[in-house]
Amino acid sequence: MKASVYYSKNDIRYQDIEQPEIGDGDILIKMKSCGLCGTDIHKAQHQTVTGPIILGHEVAGEVVKIGKNVIRYGVGERVVTAIHVPCFNCHYCDRGYFTMCDQFKKTNLEPGGFSEYIRIPQLHVEHLTHRIIPELDWDRAAMIEPVACCLHGLKSANIHAKDSVLVMGSGTIGLVSAQLAALKGASTVIVSDLSRYKRELALKLGINHAINPAEEDLEQRVSEITAGKGVDVVIIAAGVSSLVTQAVNVVRRGGRVIVFSPFDNNPVVEIDASRLFRDEISIIGTYSLTPYEMKEAIEIVEKEKINVRDMITHTWPLSDMHEAIEFAANPANDVLKVIIKAEE
Ligand SMILES: [Zn+2]
Ligand SMILES: [Zn+2]
Repeated sequence: MKASVYYSKNDIRYQDIEQPEIGDGDILIKMKSCGLCGTDIHKAQHQTVTGPIILGHEVAGEVVKIGKNVIRYGVGERVVTAIHVPCFNCHYCDRGYFTMCDQFKKTNLEPGGFSEYIRIPQLHVEHLTHRIIPELDWDRAAMIEPVACCLHGLKSANIHAKDSVLVMGSGTIGLVSAQLAALKGASTVIVSDLSRYKRELALKLGINHAINPAEEDLEQRVSEITAGKGVDVVIIAAGVSSLVTQAVNVVRRGGRVIVFSPFDNNPVVEIDASRLFRDEISIIGTYSLTPYEMKEAIEIVEKEKINVRDMITHTWPLSDMHEAIEFAANPANDVLKVIIKAEE
């Protein structure tokens, strides 16, 4: 079978690899659509992973083989899945921090999402895999995993009706989070992004305000929009750590800053720490998703409670991954979500 194998930044090969063998509780799927995630782009461009490795985790595909103990799925069914499964039985899991479980990152799809066929191990079959309705096309199905990640982040945001929410960064995670914030009752949703294309897309998706932080004073604009109060919630969905400084300045008393972005390159920032005690603000990190968010994400995407259709701007064949990553990573391009397709 074919897979797209990452060796290094400029060396991604579309090559033949061994098709995974499945165990009694596993299933094998033919990949139909796999989203190119910001983290895939980050790993490839900044070489934070060592090749050879097959990236990709936003997977939708058709079951082509089942292990002899699998009763829940049959050949020909359309499913989605995700990559990490917690143990449900450790210090972290007991306290609800499933993504911090030691088992979490050790569990994986084989060989990864950017592959013609993918083995879904038994644990993933049991906890993360779900059927999708026939009306849902493969590309939108591949959006379920990032929607689940955003739902996970929004749990900590604890959004109430009539809240105001600022989302810094209008990539896929930013625009999904912004739409989910509105779905959860926020009445004022603001996004900020340097890209005119992404700001226009945000407005088209129903976001109330889209600010260009290079041309407008973000803190002043937020103050105007919220009558001087500041926003109830800030969600950081761009890999620029100095945004934390700014987020702390624009959140209202008692508000929450949700950090949903890797800051590997420049992790140290200054914040006005007096706001933590005096103003009871919270800064909360969020990472990945748990099995509990997958079903809700499926419901939201299947029933079109948010618009993921218009967020998918490009599809790319699995054979041209390098080109897809270069294109998606270039801020000059009008691109939001890229979906990778295996050959039919
Ligand atoms: Zn992702
Ligand atoms: Zn655990």
